[in-house]
Amino acid sequence: MGEFELIDRFFRRARPAPRAVPLGIGDDCALLAPAPGMQLAVSTDMLLEGRHFLSTVDPSRLGHKALAVNLSDLAACGARPVAFTLSLALPSVDESWLEGFARGLFALADEHGCELIGGDTTRGPLAISVTVFGEVPAGQALLRSGARAGDDLYISGTLGDARLALEVFRGALTAPAPVFELARARMEQPTPRVALGQALRGVATSAIDVSDGLLGDLGHVLRGSNVGATVWAGSALPLLGVREKAGDPGDLPDEARQLEFVLAGGDDYELLFTAPQARREAVASAAAASATPVTRIGRIEAQPGLRVLDGQGREIRSSFASFEHFA
Ligand code: ADP
Ligand code: MG
Repeated sequence: MGEFELIDRFFRRARPAPRAVPLGIGDDCALLAPAPGMQLAVSTDMLLEGRHFLSTVDPSRLGHKALAVNLSDLAACGARPVAFTLSLALPSVDESWLEGFARGLFALADEHGCELIGGDTTRGPLAISVTVFGEVPAGQALLRSGARAGDDLYISGTLGDARLALEVFRGALTAPAPVFELARARMEQPTPRVALGQALRGVATSAIDVSDGLLGDLGHVLRGSNVGATVWAGSALPLLGVREKAGDPGDLPDEARQLEFVLAGGDDYELLFTAPQARREAVASAAAASATPVTRIGRIEAQPGLRVLDGQGREIRSSFASFEHFA
């Protein structure tokens, strides 16, 4: 199968073009038409076999993840997804793999009305690069630089589940099947918080999606905004989502390890954001309107650096909780 046949068979779909996409796949360029007063938000992410995913991963889950990690970046900016491109390096033409990959990819794309408008296809070690385009009203994108001293700090959903799955894959941990399957689904099929991101426009002062771990990504916001923060790692912090699947405490790693996964796990794709204390009701409305759980986990402060406090208000000084660790 040649390159053009492959594109036609797996990636080109005959369907009416959305308003914002006057021209899709097939010409030298695609054309985008942002509505008046809107800015284009653009983000790109590359996934390499062995580094970002395991060779054994289900191809439909991989198709989902390749787009999901990019939609998560649009979510963090408060943008509405419009279109994406897909660049693929494939070692061979494996039709059942391509069929599964395209199925997972388009299921998520259709959920968000995000149109595949082009890409590139070449032979090589398996690599997937997606670029997404979104729309955001001019001047309203959520940025890493907007956090102010006194703002509340929030996180969506739960954290640490993907890291637990990774540790099981690495053979460093064992977990009962229901715990592992849920953790694995969170690692392989993350849910980009697209509706929440848009609902937070005009409410949040800054936002970032958590891909490298809560504390590491919070560090980007603190540096971008030139502020510090305290995170309450006691009962305020949402813990592993897989706890609901655990029968007894022995099904999960010990509390210290769980805290490490939650604070520094990575691959969570939750939204970390800040908002003025006076906007707590607006944050609750945004969470409700987008049906996304949101938890207040700390406070932005003028004092530089990051302080992580336990349930008794004592500072946690583990290596993963240190500011230097991710500075
Ligand atoms: P060019 O040589 O002009 O770069 P190509 O021959 O690479 O064009 O691709 C032909 C058309 O198919 C282009 O519109 C391109 O955007 C699209 N395309 C190529 N690969 C993919 C892909 N993996 N997914 C979607 N569209 C693709
Ligand atoms: Mg090309």
